[in-house]
Amino acid sequence: MNISTKRTHGPLELLILQSTPFCNLDCSYCYLPDRSDKSRMPIHVIEKAFEFVIGANLVESEFTIVWHAGEPMTLPPSYYKEAFDLSREFANKHNIVIHQSIQTNATLVTDEWCKLIQENDVRVGISLDGSAKWNDRVRVYRSGKGSHQKVLEGIECLRRNNIDFHVISVITSESVADPEGIFDFFHELGIERLGFNFEEQEGENERARWDDSSSAKSERFLESFMKLIKKHNARIQVREFDGIAPWLLQGGKSLEHNQENSAFKITSVSKNGRVSTFSPELLGHTNEEYSNFIVGNLLTDTPNQILNSDVLHRMMDSIDAGIQSCKMECEYFDICGGGSPGNKLFEAGSFAATKTKYCENSVIAPAHAALTVLEDLAQEAKMGMKSK
Ligand code: SF4
Repeated sequence: MNISTKRTHGPLELLILQSTPFCNLDCSYCYLPDRSDKSRMPIHVIEKAFEFVIGANLVESEFTIVWHAGEPMTLPPSYYKEAFDLSREFANKHNIVIHQSIQTNATLVTDEWCKLIQENDVRVGISLDGSAKWNDRVRVYRSGKGSHQKVLEGIECLRRNNIDFHVISVITSESVADPEGIFDFFHELGIERLGFNFEEQEGENERARWDDSSSAKSERFLESFMKLIKKHNARIQVREFDGIAPWLLQGGKSLEHNQENSAFKITSVSKNGRVSTFSPELLGHTNEEYSNFIVGNLLTDTPNQILNSDVLHRMMDSIDAGIQSCKMECEYFDICGGGSPGNKLFEAGSFAATKTKYCENSVIAPAHAALTVLEDLAQEAKMGMKSK
């Protein structure tokens, strides 16, 4: 298929398939507007998604399918078995590798799910916000009951079946004051891979209430957490430092942009074939200026029409303007690459914006905390050498 494009797209890294918008929880910070909708993505939409990424020339040699948005496990394992079989067939036909990944609240994990996960080598990410004290304030069922106990049972089931997983933990403007409690909980639970999302103001979620001192609070949180890891010699890898530490130590390669602000490195597909790109949270929200961020529909548009859609190019123009402003104005650009379009739009009202609370909590705070911890280590090493 011959595609004419004005600009470069991809390569595809994440294909996010929203198999269902439905979630069995009703977390107070959730940004998904349709989480009571029990419909599902028909299998032929998944086929269309594969045809699109190949037809639009987005695939190099591998990509990851992320089953996300709503709780994927509210659909039965048999649905995913069919989808995984289809992916395998498609990967073999095009001589590429497709990884499978599921982001789940873990409340519905069973041995049957574990069997499917093992057989298809699915990467598992669990959402858990620390001990019941913090988790059950926000991660609740529609009845208001906390989900903590069920998540622990899900983790127990994964472990019984020898399935590795990582945890994503949302830090709210309240829990940010408790790095010790959050560390103790994850350390005792034996979690080895952890990512922190500082609660964001996105879509439906307008409860994120960070005041002007938020970056100081998130920095203090991350710094304390890293010091606790060191003090307890804990085997916890924290995502926020994975990219930054080597960059600070070796003078890492500067980013010119990032996964979220490059067109089609992330491609999101709704249950009814609507396609969006850039920040995954854009898909599902209403927005007049950018036609709800929908760049096309797999069931009615050709890859060429989607890649050249007017809305895509208007989004790219505004996002590019934001990246250029970030590059000129922000000293953290090299490690950030110009930020998250979703956060810029939801927080500042424009893709062309620069600094947001997201920058403070998720870029600047980790960089400062990593620097402080590295300086402490260097100081200790110096003292050690002096005393020899
Ligand atoms: S930290 Fe914020 S202001 Fe700085 S480059 Fe990133 S998005 Fe832009």
